[in-house]
Amino acid sequence: MIAKGMHGHTRIHPQGLLRQFYLWLRGTEQILVRPAAELPLVLISYAKGDREGMERLRETLEGTWLTLPETFRHRYAEVLSQVPPFVVVLLRRRNLCTCLGHHHPPGSESRLTRRLRSMSGVLTGEIDLAYEAIRDWEPQPLSYPALHSAAEAAEFQSFQWQLGLLTVFLHELHHLVAPAESERHVRGQSQKFYEDALAHFVAERFGVESGLRHGLPVPKVIL
Ligand SMILES: [Zn+2]
Ligand SMILES: [Zn+2]
Repeated sequence: MIAKGMHGHTRIHPQGLLRQFYLWLRGTEQILVRPAAELPLVLISYAKGDREGMERLRETLEGTWLTLPETFRHRYAEVLSQVPPFVVVLLRRRNLCTCLGHHHPPGSESRLTRRLRSMSGVLTGEIDLAYEAIRDWEPQPLSYPALHSAAEAAEFQSFQWQLGLLTVFLHELHHLVAPAESERHVRGQSQKFYEDALAHFVAERFGVESGLRHGLPVPKVIL
């Protein structure tokens, strides 16, 4: 516990850690997310005006992840077992280099992450995600002929955005824990995760299989 108005040094007890962070971060554009147990504790750091992106990422980590079948989530079990218990996500709209995200190898993290790590004594990793670029991203053209209404198309797009955020999040964590792994391998795993999860969502929600799964000719979803 930290007494109100107390000054000077305060010993950090593990159970008081989150409160310490909240006090330190109060008034800044950062938020702590506590997703499912197999995911790390996440601090999203975002610019003023980017609240929508933060909310989307938070929903994704807290909710969307758990809506996926266990068999899909299990594909990242090995990666997640090696991820630091605390991960900072620097959330941006876009990257100048046009990448959807990056992992930040040890030594290249922001001052925020270095400070959190030294404050908490907890292993802390860092990645960045470009949420608008992810929203606009389609790894392959898709066809979902069963989306008949604008409402269905909007629901599909919403899920697609959240799944994209989740996929790039997992992709960058994969790089973080396996720096020697090739981009081809890391991307292969994340792309398959994305395609399978999207196909599952569409099949379950709209009762159709995705064009990807069947290799159908695939025009874009028209809104
Ligand atoms: Zn880049
Ligand atoms: Zn990559």
